Amino acid sequence: MEKKAITLIGAGLAGSLLGIFLARKGYAVTIYERRPDMRKTAISAGRSINLALANRGIAALEEIGLMDEIRKVLLPMAGRMLHDEAGNTQYFSYGQRPEEVIYSVSRGGLNCVLMDLAEREGVTIEFGRNCRDVDFSARTVSLLDETTQTLRDVGFDTLIGTDGSASAVRAAIQRETNGSCREEPLSHGYKELCIQPGPNGEFRLEKNALHIWPRGEFMLIALPNPDGTFTLTLFLPNEGPESFASLGSAEAVRAFFEKYFADTLPLLPDLELQFLGNPLGHLATVRSEPWHYRDLALVLGDAAHAIVPFHGQGMNCAFEDVSALNECQNGEAGWEAVFEQFFALRKPNAEAIADMALENYVEMRATVRDPKFGLKKQLSFELENRHSPRFIPRYSMVMFHRLPYAEARRRGAIQEEILNVLVEGVDTVERVDFALAESLIGERL
Ligand SMILES: Cc1cc2nc3c(=O)[nH]c(=O)nc-3n(C[C@H](O)[C@H](O)[C@H](O)COP(=O)(O)OP(=O)(O)OC[C@H]3O[C@@H](n4cnc5c(N)ncnc54)[C@H](O)[C@@H]3O)c2cc1C
Repeated sequence: MEKKAITLIGAGLAGSLLGIFLARKGYAVTIYERRPDMRKTAISAGRSINLALANRGIAALEEIGLMDEIRKVLLPMAGRMLHDEAGNTQYFSYGQRPEEVIYSVSRGGLNCVLMDLAEREGVTIEFGRNCRDVDFSARTVSLLDETTQTLRDVGFDTLIGTDGSASAVRAAIQRETNGSCREEPLSHGYKELCIQPGPNGEFRLEKNALHIWPRGEFMLIALPNPDGTFTLTLFLPNEGPESFASLGSAEAVRAFFEKYFADTLPLLPDLELQFLGNPLGHLATVRSEPWHYRDLALVLGDAAHAIVPFHGQGMNCAFEDVSALNECQNGEAGWEAVFEQFFALRKPNAEAIADMALENYVEMRATVRDPKFGLKKQLSFELENRHSPRFIPRYSMVMFHRLPYAEARRRGAIQEEILNVLVEGVDTVERVDFALAESLIGERL
């Protein structure tokens, strides 16, 4: 029997993973990818080299049996290491159980492993094919061949856009449905730098941590890579007195780092070269609906709901989307009903993680500097010990559990109120009124 065909646009993280699930369901999958094959050409520097992989993403990779292979190239990050202006460090564990860690993973490496498996499962990936438009009445996508610069129309039965935050498929769905799409650019951008390993290949910062230099209005972070390097990312306003706009010269860059990140200077001998040479990235939240058009097309991952990176959840959420779509498809329903069910299930969660990601930027760059931050973290763990699963720290609900994001956000807000009451006038966990804690948790959670 002829296999049903399905066309995907974008062989990034979500597209490659989705291709695997669909091929295993018996579909003939073709993916059109704009970029050249990254397994044959070098990945460009300076664009989110590594990512934090957490429980939701891991669960999807486990479903397709890839975790054993991926695990070999993961670096566990068990907590955040805060660096103050004077060069002092303070460590806060992310969780309190051995498995409660997040992992640094190479974006390119993970994408290559997913594409390899997709092809082994029979998926066809055509590279250098840029989707420019979709004609739903003719059921064709218009593809620009990036080498010859020629346009060609190819037919499709069902189309899924996994083409990232500037999705062409989303734009076509929007046009057809008169839908709504709000792109909310963040007024802060990012720039990546690299810390090289020491002379014997050693890591030059603690390797099992996510490093943060919180400076109130902006921050620098660092994630380890298996080759001993660290990818540093500076998040900073685009405009203003201390902004990317004000860091246009080598002198300005050095002075800025001397003032705020002096302890990184010995690790960055070529700071100015890297800073001025690497691209400036822009960040935005995309809130769109609907995500589908009839039974013809759907978007998922960043194409449906791009978020800012401060909770390290964009990829994890995209992987959870793929796994959720797979489940929606397990019944007898046709594509339109599947797409509707998927939207109903995922939209509230996409909104919740979009909001929590924005909130987490403030936590990472500013709230962690508050002396009450450590106390509240410690108290959260203690309340989790005494009252789990009723009380689970919000960070843990997002990163280590698979509770729907919307539920994590709802419960997190109540927990925050409880924590604020309990730490009022108290400076150590021992002095917290745990009888009050018990009654507040009993009443409100
Ligand atoms: C600085 C930064 C740090 C991040 N850190 C984390 C993190 O720690 N943890 C985490 O979970 N997430 C993180 N993210 C988010 C994560 O990168 C995204 O959520 C994830 O890549 C989404 O996967 P996707 O497949 O939906 O989109 P993408 O990864 O963007 O893939 C889209 C694919 O479609 C292709 N494409 C685009 N347009 C077309 C077209 N017109 N035609 C054909 N192909 C096309 C692209 O070339 C690409 O291959 C971070 C993002 C940034 C910017």
